Amino acid sequence: MNESCLFCKIVAGKIPAKKIYEDDHVLAFHDIHPQAPVHALVIPKKHWASLDDVGAGDRADLGHLLERTAHCARELGVAASGYRTIINTKAHGGQEVFHIHVHILGGKALGRMVDARAKEG
Ligand code: 5GP
Ligand code: ZN
Repeated sequence: MNESCLFCKIVAGKIPAKKIYEDDHVLAFHDIHPQAPVHALVIPKKHWASLDDVGAGDRADLGHLLERTAHCARELGVAASGYRTIINTKAHGGQEVFHIHVHILGGKALGRMVDARAKEG
């Protein structure tokens, strides 16, 4: 646990969250500021600050995180219609919380990423 990390505090139960799924390695909960009808975050219980902090030895944990993300999307009822997963990494990626997390966004048709890129120039 990283004492100054918001998501480590959620893992430790020191900050409340609306939990969706939990096992020994992963926790999923609803985003506090949803950007879509369904907006969940799936995090490893182990603290990695960002995707850039993951190494070859973490492949099994990362695989579990992504597989459980798919499981959560099914539990949330968005798997059949489809959803978007996002991992923001560091400043230019728009990362605000430095404990790696996978966003699940769904519940409506989302704009294509190429459209979003065009708008941002
Ligand atoms: P990032 O920009 O780092 O990829 O996304 C961080 C996400 O965490 C944001 O979507 C933000 O709304 C969410 N978030 C920040 N603080 C909290 C919190 O205390 N609880 C929950 N459930 N989500 C949070
Ligand atoms: Zn952390």
